[in-house]
Amino acid sequence: MRTPFVAANWKMHKTVSESVDYARTLRGHLEQTDGVDIALAPPFTALNALRNALHDAPIHVAGQDLYWEKQGAFTGQVSAAMLTDAGASHVIIGHSERRHIFGETDDQVAKKVAAAVDANLTPIVCVGETLEQRDGDKTLDVLDRQLTAAFAELSAGDAHSAIVAYEPVWAIGTGRNATPEQAQVAHAHLRARIAAIFGSDLAAACRVIYGGSVKPSNVAALSSQPDVDGSLVGGAGLDPDGFAEIVRQSQTV
Ligand code: PEP
Repeated sequence: MRTPFVAANWKMHKTVSESVDYARTLRGHLEQTDGVDIALAPPFTALNALRNALHDAPIHVAGQDLYWEKQGAFTGQVSAAMLTDAGASHVIIGHSERRHIFGETDDQVAKKVAAAVDANLTPIVCVGETLEQRDGDKTLDVLDRQLTAAFAELSAGDAHSAIVAYEPVWAIGTGRNATPEQAQVAHAHLRARIAAIFGSDLAAACRVIYGGSVKPSNVAALSSQPDVDGSLVGGAGLDPDGFAEIVRQSQTV
């Protein structure tokens, strides 16, 4: 039985004080967090303040990206060790906005995933097809390629904590989510691919979460699918009331 994992990706939203206010409100809403793992991914600038504002609440803090080098002349970049030092336990890698706006490649995703694992950060590895790829019947090929590449530098021992996020590009920020059936097909395929790479035990334990226009009104149907193990939430995660409702609907107890 896999504990659902629900994360809010705030993208480039929220100042330090807004993040602290959010933490206070969310803690008030979520007195009982059994049966679900929760993470918040703020901008780098708010990571440490958010971690402190959450106090000992069982809510993880995640980076939205990292750079694979340990340190050096890499203006604007943040290393895995810097994220852990600021209080992060998780990091989103290969988000479609990184791939499509900033030109991140499969090779770069692989280096980032390896750097995260090396620093004991849990990578949340995002994969997903564009609308053109879906319409061209290429979805499963794209998922195979992105997933295989992302894990290219890991052994099964290294990959045991990794989380995979299926995020169809056409569903991100569009209000148009994948249907539960579409999500299930993609998730089952990803789990089979994980089994082919790392073996069936790891595949059975690995959380494969869904992202793309998740909201309180659709999360229950998506999460009811056997291979959907939680969600990565963008827009609806900016409001602590809505995010708390998504968390509650994802709880298995
Ligand atoms: C995301 O950015 O990962 C995402 C899924 O966004 P939204 O929920 O807004 O579609």
